[in-house]
Amino acid sequence: MALHLGAIGMVLVRPRWWPWALSAVVVDQLVLTAGGLWPRSHLLGPNWTHLPPLAAGTAAAAPAPGAVAITIDDGPDPEVTSRVLDLLDEHHARATFFCIGERIDRYPALARAIVARQHEIGNHSYRHLMRFSLLGPRGVAQEIARAQEAIAAATGEVARFFRAPAGLRNPFLEPALTRANLQLVSWTRRGFDTVNGSAGRVLESLTRDLQSGDILLLHDGHAARTPCGSPVILEVLPRLLRTLAAAQLAPITLSAALARSSFPALLPAASSVPS
Ligand SMILES: [Zn+2]
Repeated sequence: MALHLGAIGMVLVRPRWWPWALSAVVVDQLVLTAGGLWPRSHLLGPNWTHLPPLAAGTAAAAPAPGAVAITIDDGPDPEVTSRVLDLLDEHHARATFFCIGERIDRYPALARAIVARQHEIGNHSYRHLMRFSLLGPRGVAQEIARAQEAIAAATGEVARFFRAPAGLRNPFLEPALTRANLQLVSWTRRGFDTVNGSAGRVLESLTRDLQSGDILLLHDGHAARTPCGSPVILEVLPRLLRTLAAAQLAPITLSAALARSSFPALLPAASSVPS
């Protein structure tokens, strides 16, 4: 805003400098657009692309176990989510599900099952609009608020983390997240499992250079199908969980990672909504 007002002021005071003013505005818009189109960029505000570092002293007191976050987007899905929960249980793994608000309204029992089985639900907007990054400030805030309401109504939980649909953002998002007390989370690496039905290739994308602190992205909603017709996450997840176990990396929720981090209390403790 300041840059735009400055450009207008410059043209009013020195009309001959208009090419400079116009260039500054164009460059500003290009930078903002690039920041919004690049999901892992930090140009538009704080954005977790890795888990926060461990609190000082934790590592010294005992060898800190490595940890990663498995994040699972676009559910809940009536065909896939329950089977994903069973696979996670079998491996004593915890995950964070970035759920779509209107899907929670449709399948509230699945949302409750996610929380009952000690996983976390994050906010992935209400409608998962592909034009989310084209919404104005009010539209962005409404998508966030309606999804928070759906999560609270189904589970009694207040979500702490937000992920933008397709990772696309605009400059109106960060102020809306701050007001809603939500932290933006993207990922360290993703499996492209909405378009790639090869479990081997999805696993390879997720585990290449795997390290403690990584945030991995999979999908229970919109999952690509394997050649046998199975949602690819169901074939990837057991292999991923075995790989993590072999590397001594514990799959934990984002809130668990925040609780053991050196970050000051960025967010209040998870609170329940009075029913
Ligand atoms: Zn999504």
